[in-house]
Amino acid sequence: MATHTLPPLPYDYNALEPWIDEQTMRLHHDKHHQTYCDNFVKAVTGTPFEAQDVNATLAQLDKVPENIRGAVRNHGGGFANHILFWEIMGPKAGGTPTGPLAEAISKAFGSFDAFREKFVAAAMGQFGSGWAWLVVKADGELAVYNLPNQDSPVSKGDTPILTLDVWEHAYYLKYQNRRAEYVGNFWNVVNWNKVAELYGKAKK
Ligand code: MN
Repeated sequence: MATHTLPPLPYDYNALEPWIDEQTMRLHHDKHHQTYCDNFVKAVTGTPFEAQDVNATLAQLDKVPENIRGAVRNHGGGFANHILFWEIMGPKAGGTPTGPLAEAISKAFGSFDAFREKFVAAAMGQFGSGWAWLVVKADGELAVYNLPNQDSPVSKGDTPILTLDVWEHAYYLKYQNRRAEYVGNFWNVVNWNKVAELYGKAKK
């Protein structure tokens, strides 16, 4: 029973050009993301976590049996993190947020530019593989940090609303070692409408 399946990319593979290239998107979604999905399914098949939403499982990693906990953390994390990543990007995107999200960002970080600096620092400061995150904490406050590998903010009790994959597989074909250029161009593809929607849900 394939409870967990890889959702199709919510736009064309070339939709994020020129900032993120088609070849990277094909490999990233069809190969890397698919593999996380497959390995997560393998780990949870025959367990009570087989039919449970992946984020619900990541939120209770301590309840996952030790023999599959590592696989769930890594592959379940990879499965869930990439679904969010595709959703918070899009074609004809970028710019700045508006509404309650914009107000919350200004309140938490001082200004949008200050927020962006902090997020970039998190993305650049992640040594090796990992992700930069903007999350809503349990108390409703916003926070920015990085996490290694495929670790999810959900496992810390936070709700992620914006994220950037800084594994080399996310940018190496186009940017090689130039992570800063990739991180800088990310802002051209952020779908702030989606981030605002996730913020609204997290605040409820
Ligand atoms: Mn990735």
